[in-house]
Amino acid sequence: AKGAGRNRFSFFTPALQEAAQTRVRLTHDLRSGLAEQQFKVVYQPIVNLQTGAVHKAEALIRWHHPKLGLVSPASFIPIAESSGLIVDIGEWVFQQAASQVLQWRQRLHPDFQISVNKSPVQFHHDDSHKATWADHLNALGLPGSSIVVEITEGLLLDTGTRVGDHLLELGDAGIQVSLDDFGTGYSSLSYLQKFDIDFIKIDQSFVKHLIPASTDLALCKAIIVMAHALGMKVIAEGVETALQRDLLIEAGCDYGQGYLFARPMAAEDLELYIQSR
Ligand code: C2E
Ligand code: CA
Ligand code: CA
Ligand code: CA
Repeated sequence: AKGAGRNRFSFFTPALQEAAQTRVRLTHDLRSGLAEQQFKVVYQPIVNLQTGAVHKAEALIRWHHPKLGLVSPASFIPIAESSGLIVDIGEWVFQQAASQVLQWRQRLHPDFQISVNKSPVQFHHDDSHKATWADHLNALGLPGSSIVVEITEGLLLDTGTRVGDHLLELGDAGIQVSLDDFGTGYSSLSYLQKFDIDFIKIDQSFVKHLIPASTDLALCKAIIVMAHALGMKVIAEGVETALQRDLLIEAGCDYGQGYLFARPMAAEDLELYIQSR
C-alpha cells in the first residue's frame, strides 16, 4: 500500500514529462516524415523449411529520422497507433508491398506472397468510404492471395466491433490471414476455429530457447499439431541457429523466418538473396 501511494505521484517526475514531450515531438515528426518520404519498407524472407524455397517475405517498415537516425518500429509504431497516423502509414506500407509483389510474381515466383502487418487501429478505423485492399490488388491485376495480413491475437478478442466482418471480407477476397506473435496473447482455441486463419506465427520467445527435450520444444510441437489439425500452416519467428531450425523441421514446422536465413533487407537485396540460393 505504501508503494502504491508513492506511485501516485510518479506522474510528475521529470523523466515522464520528458517522455511525454518526446511523444509529442515524434508524433509531429511522424506526420511530416510520411510527406517527406523518410520511410522505407524492408523485406525479410520466409523460408519453406521442408523444401528450402523462398516464396514469401514479410514487409517491415523503417524510419530514417533526419536527426535521430534509424528509429525502431517498436518505439514509433505505438505512437503512430495512439495518434491514428498508423492508418495512413499502414496504407502506404500496403501499397509499397502490393507494387513489390507484382514485380516479384513476374521476376521471382508466380505465387510470391508478401505479409503486411495490420494494426488493430487500422481495423477499427472507419474506412467505408475508401477503396479496400482487395480493390487495390484487383486494379493491379493481382489475386488476393498475393498478400497476407498479419494480425495479433488481441484483435480476435475484440468483440462488438466489425473485426469479424473485416476478416471475412479479406477471406472472401482471397487475402490470407496470419496470426502474429502466437502464444503471447490471450486467444483461446475457440477463436482459432471461429475466424478464418491461414497461418500461425510462433512467437520468437518460444523459439529462442529451443533445445532438445525442452518445454519450449513441447510447446512448439503442440502448436504445430494443433494448427495442422485446424488446416493452418505454421511459421516460426526468430530462428537464429541451425539447431533451432533442425528441431523445428523435425517437429513438422512449415516455415521459418529469422537471422539464420536473413535479416530484413531492401527489396533489391532480397532479389539477389533469392537468386543466389
Ligand atoms: P513483428 O511483426 O513480430 O516482426 C518481427 C520482428 O522480429 C522484426 O522487428 C524483425 O526484424 C525481427 N526479427 C526477425 N528475425 C529475427 C531474429 O532471428 N531474431 C530477432 N531477435 N529478431 C528478429 P522490427 O522490424 O524491428 O519490427 C518490430 C515490430 O514492429 C514488428 O514485430 C511489428 O509488430 C511492428 N512493425 C514493423 N513494421 C510494421 C508495419 O508496417 N506496420 C505495423 N502495424 N507494425 C509494424
Ligand atoms: Ca509480423
Ligand atoms: Ca483464408
Ligand atoms: Ca511477430
